[in-house]
Amino acid sequence: MKLGCHVSMSSPLYLEGSVQEALSYGANALMIYTGPPQNTLRKPTNALHIEEMHELLQKNNIPLENVIVHAPYIINLANTIDLEKNKWSVEFLKQEIDRVASIGAKILVLHPGSHVKAGEEVGIAQIIKGLNEATQQDKGVRIALETMCGKGSELGYTFEQLSQIMKGVDHPELFGVCLDTCHIHDGGYDLSDFESILNDFDTLIGLNNLLVMHINDSKNVRGAKKDRHANIGLGEIGFELLNKIVHHPSLKEVVKILETPYIDGHAPYKAEIEMFQSETFKENLEDIVKAG
Ligand code: FE
Ligand code: FE
Ligand code: ZN
Repeated sequence: MKLGCHVSMSSPLYLEGSVQEALSYGANALMIYTGPPQNTLRKPTNALHIEEMHELLQKNNIPLENVIVHAPYIINLANTIDLEKNKWSVEFLKQEIDRVASIGAKILVLHPGSHVKAGEEVGIAQIIKGLNEATQQDKGVRIALETMCGKGSELGYTFEQLSQIMKGVDHPELFGVCLDTCHIHDGGYDLSDFESILNDFDTLIGLNNLLVMHINDSKNVRGAKKDRHANIGLGEIGFELLNKIVHHPSLKEVVKILETPYIDGHAPYKAEIEMFQSETFKENLEDIVKAG
């Protein structure tokens, strides 16, 4: 099982500290942002303790393939209303791909974008254009377009839309998908029929293009389009379903990342990873996490 979680990346140890944090939860995979997710202040990568990170990963037999990077939310390749912002997004994405390559990671998760009321088809065409501009060269990094829930004017909330984007780009081999369980549930997919979701995914996108998964429960009912993550087993999807998905034989090689909320300032990941390892729900999960 390749299972980890979102971890911080901050002073003084940066990426080395990220791996330490993941190890402290019993994770063998991790996801980081190259800086604050909501802004674009980025430190030069030579300050990020990359070598120390690689050494620590190696010492713990964690391949670099298990290190996932998430691009900041404010990149919006779908924007056709504010073209300055769109241009800036493409430029930032280019730099982000370079940063991921310097770190040695292979997968960059990206929210496809929001059409900001210009319409879905216009937005999708703009996403394809932006992706093409940002990926003229192969830097050894694949972009995993994340399944979204369709909140506001978000695109990428159906496999059809993601498939359309992947068919439209010049270099489809540089792309794949990140499947987020909370997002597809909020977008209307019925996770209790996961086999047919996988079949649809395989038909439209190809299971070989499923690069990474985000494993989250959801605070809202199916189709709510809210995107509020819940702790594993404490939401509308439930432990049983999520556990089945995490242990699905067809997804054995896919890196799975938890992005569940902190409880009273405590990271829930150690306890949640243990639940998946033992395939047993902890009834008192909240108390365990709060106790630190
Ligand atoms: Fe995301
Ligand atoms: Fe996600
Ligand atoms: Zn989300």
